[in-house]
Amino acid sequence: MARDYYGILGVNREASDDEIKRAYRKLARQFHPDVNPDPEAQEKFKDINAAYEVLSDDRKRQIVDLGGDPLAPGGGGAGGPGGPGGAGPFVGFQDIMDAFFGGAAGGARGPRPRTRPGADAILRLELDLHETAFGVEAPITVDTAVLCTTCSGAGTAAGTHLATCEACGGRGEVQSVQRTFLGQVVSARPCTVCQGYGTTIPHPCPTCAGDGRVRTRRSLTVKIPAGVEDGMRIRLAQQGEVGPGGGTAGDLYVEIHERPHDVYSRKGDDLHCRVTVPMTAAALGTRLTIKTLDSEETVDVKAGTQPASTLRLRARGVPHLRGTGRGDLYVHLDVRTPTKLDPDQERMLRDFAKTRGEEVAELSKQGGFFSRMRDAFNGHA
Ligand SMILES: [Zn+2]
Ligand SMILES: [Zn+2]
Repeated sequence: MARDYYGILGVNREASDDEIKRAYRKLARQFHPDVNPDPEAQEKFKDINAAYEVLSDDRKRQIVDLGGDPLAPGGGGAGGPGGPGGAGPFVGFQDIMDAFFGGAAGGARGPRPRTRPGADAILRLELDLHETAFGVEAPITVDTAVLCTTCSGAGTAAGTHLATCEACGGRGEVQSVQRTFLGQVVSARPCTVCQGYGTTIPHPCPTCAGDGRVRTRRSLTVKIPAGVEDGMRIRLAQQGEVGPGGGTAGDLYVEIHERPHDVYSRKGDDLHCRVTVPMTAAALGTRLTIKTLDSEETVDVKAGTQPASTLRLRARGVPHLRGTGRGDLYVHLDVRTPTKLDPDQERMLRDFAKTRGEEVAELSKQGGFFSRMRDAFNGHA
């Protein structure tokens, strides 16, 4: 069965050449593999090309109108330039647009500038909690491209100049004419002799070989403000890579990585730490000396403190990055139950429990497995 070429382009059988062209252009914008990576789009684009190839050719269109298929093998037509069902050589999206709009459709073409902005660079900086909290002046080493001082970025040897590229006449691109089903498509490609610059460097600068920049290792000092956090980036304007031809340097980003601290864990600007308190101290109350990041504080643990209690030391955390003030330090108390009691201690605790009316089963007197083990170790039979 003949394919529905009109249907593929979405035009009716009376469509003018202009309507067919417009429909094709619209669909090419939508389905060309250069603009639509979907594999289905690729198949669709093949159909669209085939339909346009047939309907834009009066003789082939006539075959379709008579119920035949000019692209089918033996379908009455001589076949397209690319064989049955084919759409000729692959034509780039930009070339299709150029074929309709003229070469200007591709936007700014022509020689590209030798001087271009440089790339940004990123550097990882490991800091201790103390440094992120209170700020630091950190020495860093950066491997980047800097301006070539021999030629000041021009890329030419002393006393010499750029020359107009003879291959492209200074246009930076060369045109080739392709015969396709669209007719002649003139496409422009960057000139390979001058890499699109339109100029060549007959005598390159001996230091940078014409690049206008050289790679080097620089040492800088970065001022890290107090209160920075893991993952934050500090931007150093124009400390990145100098561009080709001595173009403006990109920025350097210093990414902060905070080393984990032995004692404190950090949540935002708050710090957390754990302190072990004996059961008796928790029951009777006590006074603790807590080392903070930058001071020593004395805090009272109230009598009757429960396990998993928290003390909050205001403004003993990390200083806020912007504005004033600091986060808090949370001291998590681990109330520790004694694991070993000597007979006297055990007796006192039992007496204590008795005075409080608390019932305590006497495991050791029940002759259980563990007490028998203990008796064996203590030499009792
Ligand atoms: Zn050239
Ligand atoms: Zn140079």
